[in-house]
Amino acid sequence: MNEATTPVPAGARVILASHNAKKLRELQRILAASVPGLDEDAIISSAGIALPDVVEDAITFEGNALLKAHSAAAATGLLAVADDSGLAVDVLGGAPGIFSARWSGRHGDDEANNDLLLAQLSDVPDAHRTARFVCAAALVAPDGTEVVERGEMVGRLLRERHGEGGFGYDPLFLPVGQARTSAELTADEKDAISHRGIAFRAIAKHVAPLLGS
Ligand code: IMP
Repeated sequence: MNEATTPVPAGARVILASHNAKKLRELQRILAASVPGLDEDAIISSAGIALPDVVEDAITFEGNALLKAHSAAAATGLLAVADDSGLAVDVLGGAPGIFSARWSGRHGDDEANNDLLLAQLSDVPDAHRTARFVCAAALVAPDGTEVVERGEMVGRLLRERHGEGGFGYDPLFLPVGQARTSAELTADEKDAISHRGIAFRAIAKHVAPLLGS
């Protein structure tokens, strides 16, 4: 049976191993639109579910996404999705990469992370300020079957912040082909081109076969 015709079993659920409500909404929109028979409310987040803490000690986005998805699938018996993402700057050899959330030393301090990145690139000419956002999305079934897909959004880093939307490094990031930073795009505009949108849409095609297996 191919991916398009695999039926989704009644009552099937998918768990996202994340407490981030925006990621949950994005995954719900993408999976419900691409997997016939799967409703948005069948995709739940791990917020409020006591999952074991996962030490994200892999050195790739894919490795960390798989660690989180395997842990959630084993703990819940559900098909689990997890993602890991970050910013890779070419002149920094791909850094901050998997350390993006804590580049300045404090986890999740977006302002300090952006300030540090601006300082590190202060002498770098515009032509060399290229970077990409990367997302690895992992899908793991309770029997351990795994799929991982990568999405990238290429662009360059500006010298000052623009826009109030998004999060993280969005105010500094001008995607290729756009006149606005990813903090100035609407959520729908960003989803359509973002690393996370691309990775989530790529795993969507594996959901029905894994739910039915
Ligand atoms: P996480 O995978 O959601 O934990 O993201 C890791 C870090 O990468 C975030 O804290 C941000 O610093 C950065 N990052 C990932 N995706 C984005 C994005 O879409 N916009 C801006 N920053 C991002």
